[in-house]
Amino acid sequence: MPFKLFEVDREIPDREKHIYVKSSSDPEGDIPLCNTKTIPGCMTERGCAFAGAKGVITGAIKDALHVIHSPVGCTAYGYGTKRYPTSQDMPDGSRFPIENFNLKYITGTDLKESDVVFGGMDKLKRCIIEAVKEFPEANAVYIYATCTTGLIGDDMDAVAREVSNEIGKDVVSINAPGFAGPTQSKGHQVANHTLFETLVGTAEPPETTGYDVNLIGEYNIDGDLWVLKKYFEEMGINVLSTFTGDCCHDEIKWMHRARLSLVRCQRSATYIARLLEEKYNVPYMKVDFFGIRYCRENLMAIGDYFGIPERAEKVINDRLEKIEPELEYLKEKLRGKKVWVFSGGPKNWHLPEPLEEELGMEVVAVSTMFEHEDGYEKIKKRVREETVIVDDPNSLEMEEIIENYKPDIILSGIKEKYLAHKLGVPCILIHSYENGPYIGFEGFLNLARDIHASIYNPVWEMLEFEKVV
Ligand code: SF4
Repeated sequence: MPFKLFEVDREIPDREKHIYVKSSSDPEGDIPLCNTKTIPGCMTERGCAFAGAKGVITGAIKDALHVIHSPVGCTAYGYGTKRYPTSQDMPDGSRFPIENFNLKYITGTDLKESDVVFGGMDKLKRCIIEAVKEFPEANAVYIYATCTTGLIGDDMDAVAREVSNEIGKDVVSINAPGFAGPTQSKGHQVANHTLFETLVGTAEPPETTGYDVNLIGEYNIDGDLWVLKKYFEEMGINVLSTFTGDCCHDEIKWMHRARLSLVRCQRSATYIARLLEEKYNVPYMKVDFFGIRYCRENLMAIGDYFGIPERAEKVINDRLEKIEPELEYLKEKLRGKKVWVFSGGPKNWHLPEPLEEELGMEVVAVSTMFEHEDGYEKIKKRVREETVIVDDPNSLEMEEIIENYKPDIILSGIKEKYLAHKLGVPCILIHSYENGPYIGFEGFLNLARDIHASIYNPVWEMLEFEKVV
């Protein structure tokens, strides 16, 4: 019986199609219903399309100023982003004046009722000009539609064209109002297409080499990008453009000059890799650097592509030598511990095999906020029998998963963390991380350390209420 109706969903039976229990006897094609609107009555954990554009794709760019065309609520929401640290290094050797500019500031038009009635375009123009006066160091301005401005029909593109001429900087208009799609995933798609169509191919890089790559879908969460960049540097591979972790606005313009695109987050950014291949013949390779085996296999694949496998081998061996003894210790401590992985999308298929094979854990549940069919196919292949796979779980389902599957730890985002803690279950962040980076060899060791520290924290023995599990 591959699909399952949870007890808490008796009043919303349509949820059954979104909850699947892996069984080798079920038909090949069965996967949870996904990428559809949340069923009314469910308290979803999802974000909106605007959040997908700003919070994932463009919010990591180090030298851009963001203007949210909205009542103040969306602007405040847009400020709460992932931990995407940025360096001040610019491709021409100069330094951007403000460290972590992308994390520190956001601006918005603060729309009021009169703007909704009479239109907000003048206010948007004034806001962009004021913001640029306040932050003259910003090299570009990104403006965002939201539900309100999408509904009143303000012409963001016209404002972008007009103000760009006036201020002499690029103004990029992102038209992904919150209601544009069922999840934040729609915002990823819109932002990919917008950046490709408005920027790619409009500038040339300072220099090129025969080993230039685009690192696509790598947002430098807690320093992930810097781990990978170091591996590539040691292999003699040059990251020409990153889309978009620790990148500057101009880097996106010269993505067409890379020899190869490496696609890290394949849910949020395969779009631009495909567009680069179609228009500029830049091939792309999907890569996975979470866990030891995937990291080894993917570095070797990149080394083979460029005819330098011995350099990849050296990077791998150097790192393994450093991490293996501690990883072995942690594996002994974590063996048999049950884990529930709840990510936005791809970490649900990146992590189950490494957690099981390399840390000895047992993945009992996986759930995603916005994964699509292709992602669920991969999840289904990579989890063991009887693992429950849930699309867009609501809060009550989350409690039922904890009660029935009894995870020793949950890997999730901030919204779920405190629910888990209130139920007496350890939980660590895999969106923004605890003590990252989590990618690469040393990153996987960091993840194992955080899981271990969280499960074995003595606080769980001091609870004054009865634990659910
Ligand atoms: S864009 Fe819409 S859904 Fe998103 S925060 Fe604003 S009002 Fe909410």
